[in-house]
Amino acid sequence: MSNIDPRWGKWATPPKPYAKEDFDEEYTTEVLVIGAGICGLSCAYSAAESGCEVTVIEKLPMYHGFAFNVGVVNSKFMRSKGIVNDPDEVAREWIKRCGNRCDERLVRKFVDKSEEAMDWALDLAMRPEYGVRPSLQGAVYKGESYYEIYGTHIFYDGPIARQGKFGGLNDIMEPMYQESLKLGTRYFYNTTMEQLIKENGRVTGAAAKTKDGKLIAVRASKGVLVSTGGIGGNDEMCEDLCPIANKVAAKVNVPKGIDLGEGHKAALWAGAAFEDAPFPTMMHPQAIRHPNYCFLFVTPKGKRFMNEDNYLQGRSLGVIKAGYKWCWAIFDGDWAEKIPKTLDYGGGIYWGESFDLFTGTPFDEKAVGDKIQWSLDNGFAVKADTPRELAEKMGIDADEFVKTFEQYNEYCRKGHDDEFGKRKELLIPLDKPPYYARKFGPALLSVCGGVKVDENFRALDENNEVVEGLYVLGNTMAGRYGVDYPMLLPGNSVGSGLTYGYLLGRDFGKMK
Ligand SMILES: Cc1cc2nc3c(=O)[nH]c(=O)nc-3n(C[C@H](O)[C@H](O)[C@H](O)COP(=O)(O)OP(=O)(O)OC[C@H]3O[C@@H](n4cnc5c(N)ncnc54)[C@H](O)[C@@H]3O)c2cc1C
Repeated sequence: MSNIDPRWGKWATPPKPYAKEDFDEEYTTEVLVIGAGICGLSCAYSAAESGCEVTVIEKLPMYHGFAFNVGVVNSKFMRSKGIVNDPDEVAREWIKRCGNRCDERLVRKFVDKSEEAMDWALDLAMRPEYGVRPSLQGAVYKGESYYEIYGTHIFYDGPIARQGKFGGLNDIMEPMYQESLKLGTRYFYNTTMEQLIKENGRVTGAAAKTKDGKLIAVRASKGVLVSTGGIGGNDEMCEDLCPIANKVAAKVNVPKGIDLGEGHKAALWAGAAFEDAPFPTMMHPQAIRHPNYCFLFVTPKGKRFMNEDNYLQGRSLGVIKAGYKWCWAIFDGDWAEKIPKTLDYGGGIYWGESFDLFTGTPFDEKAVGDKIQWSLDNGFAVKADTPRELAEKMGIDADEFVKTFEQYNEYCRKGHDDEFGKRKELLIPLDKPPYYARKFGPALLSVCGGVKVDENFRALDENNEVVEGLYVLGNTMAGRYGVDYPMLLPGNSVGSGLTYGYLLGRDFGKMK
């Protein structure tokens, strides 16, 4: 059995390995990190802090920290607010949501160690020179089947936010970056890894092209970490490994070209194997416009297609399963009274719920009102005094839409949804003009699957034997999810990236 499936496209064909004489320059290090996202940077800093000589190769001009929130199971900060999760319960629920297709040992590592990792990151980021002020995300979905738990950290006043730029995850990465520089970590920016170097059966380094076209070899005595993110930006790889990723309204990872699966391919060519396709996705209903609340959803043809009481990924999948790239969310003139009534049963992001757990009201009427007005002004929403007029403005068959609309209101009045069984607390009639219709669609944030690893993040081949010298994390690795991104704990993608990077860095520090 080969690790390369003959049905895959040309992308899977290994290139000719570079020879010694091809390299313009050669470098040595103890730990080589490829890709400075959250996994790569936290590993680089953790390894440097543990006494390793570290080199990082990153194709962007700077490290990459694009995320709003970081989910961990517990933290010192959470305990100070009296919020404590039971790791065993979180692990059981996570595994259930992943249809038992995730790797339990990796899940346990996250639930048991994410507190230590977040405390490590925050102890640094909250130092006076960095000034980060943590808080917790309050917007969590309270549905019965797909509830979300508190543990999602958000950050204010950090070093990047203070420059007037987008802070978020960057605000805990910048301190790691600065401290890693002080510890002598070497960064090759604008440098793209092309192949791994394998000598005598062990991965010993990587070949990379610098911005000015030089080919460099970096050899690492302790190990090579590949943390180059996902494959979402590579349509051919998605077609073979995660076809649903190509069915979204938008792929929103930024900057474009960041997630081309280069690390996946290099690991494959070096002998590692992938988890079974299809790879899991992170897909939020944020394309076109959001929020979308929980009232009536209809297709572009005016038909109801799902129980609107569903979490983020579920709402995205609902649109794709109905066969569309976008659908309509319908609500009425009483939205400012009706949405807050649903928050104890649903809520979460893109439902209109306020973000911060400790400040403000649960529902920010002005913010939601501004978003609705913006959508109306920019052609993403329409408004009318009757359902029939609304359908005309939506450009759909008015008879079909009015039938769907009246049927939905009938379910609300009798307190039972005969079609999809939506909870009766969320069956709120749409009866106050004007009526609104707003477009929303599934967006791909990341494909979150790839190279099989053991519990120490060592890459595995098709026989589950270790590929010596090669480590894989984050969206390049397999096993965290198995099915799709579990929204049990929002922000767990970067929360687990932080945790795993921290742990692997410590492991490198212990190696002789
Ligand atoms: C709009 C948006 C919002 C998001 N918000 C959240 C959120 O709030 N919370 C959350 O948990 N997740 C969020 N995510 C998902 C999250 O950003 C990713 O899951 C996470 O960044 C993955 O981390 P990583 O370290 O695996 O990879 P990445 O962060 O993708 O980092 C990989 C790095 O490798 C580099 N690289 C790639 N190929 C090469 C190569 N050949 N050579 C050298 N370098 C290379 C890339 O340039 C990049 O810097 C969001 C995603 C998007 C798109």
